[in-house]
Amino acid sequence: MISAQSSEKVNATLHYQEYPPGVIIVPMKSRTAKPFHTTNLVIFAPKSVKNESEDYNFVAHGDALIVDPGCRADFHEELLKIVAALSKKLVVFVTHHHGDHVDGLSVIQKCNPNATLIAHENTMRRIRKDDWSLGHISVSGGEDICIGGQRLNIIFAPGHTDGHMALLHVETHSLIVGDHCVGQGSALLDIASGGNMADYFQSTYKFIELAPHILIPMHGRVNLWPKHMLCGYLKNRRSRELSILEAIENGAKTLFDIVANVYSEVDRSLWPHAASNVRLHVDHLSQQNMLPKGFSVDTFNCSLVAFAEKVGKIEPK
Ligand SMILES: [Zn+2]
Ligand SMILES: [Zn+2]
Repeated sequence: MISAQSSEKVNATLHYQEYPPGVIIVPMKSRTAKPFHTTNLVIFAPKSVKNESEDYNFVAHGDALIVDPGCRADFHEELLKIVAALSKKLVVFVTHHHGDHVDGLSVIQKCNPNATLIAHENTMRRIRKDDWSLGHISVSGGEDICIGGQRLNIIFAPGHTDGHMALLHVETHSLIVGDHCVGQGSALLDIASGGNMADYFQSTYKFIELAPHILIPMHGRVNLWPKHMLCGYLKNRRSRELSILEAIENGAKTLFDIVANVYSEVDRSLWPHAASNVRLHVDHLSQQNMLPKGFSVDTFNCSLVAFAEKVGKIEPK
């Protein structure tokens, strides 16, 4: 349902949804990875100001919030219209530094020099100065933001990257999950930006404990059954890890052997992605002391070069 009030905030030519009430989600074309083509821009600008502000120590106050302005350059005009219609007391939150989440930042700083950017410092240091040179606040999780008198709680949720953050709208218990979850399929972890399987599991447990009513991913649809989705993610990752362990126990010693064994059904063009996943799982198995005695992590690490020669580029760490 779209209320007359909220529809004023978004250009009528763009498709968008408002759920829960007050939280507007605009899928905007971005340079994201398949099967997606868009990044959800989340806009929160409550009309009725409530006063929750007394008991909390807020790191930032604003009348409006924008999360992950990651649209492509040809949609910057649309983004500009959205930002121009919002209050000047604007807070911008980015879940992590990937281009499909920050490509629109430069438009915001041009349009509203008073805006404040909030992100983890591992995210902040990867954002180019051309994209953001205005005021910013580095956060590490646990802080609160006050938007129009309503509280949003910042949650450190590493795994996808080492600076990845989520945001909980406290009143509706809606969790903006960045790229930790996606609307369909499973999320990729970025091994080159501190992506880590143990962190990913921990952040997933944290989300399950929070028991949000809805999950708002940045790619694809809102999820109204968070527990089901999060437990499904855990189940899939555990089962993948088990297949990798089985391949190792059956004698696979190199990255190529493991990928060829576990991902034999998957198109070879996707093997570089699969290789990152295997490396993350091997790290995780090693941390848990689950690798068999005969398996050498050094030999495995040395086999990355041979994999790259056979299959193509692999992600640096
Ligand atoms: Zn990402
Ligand atoms: Zn993304």
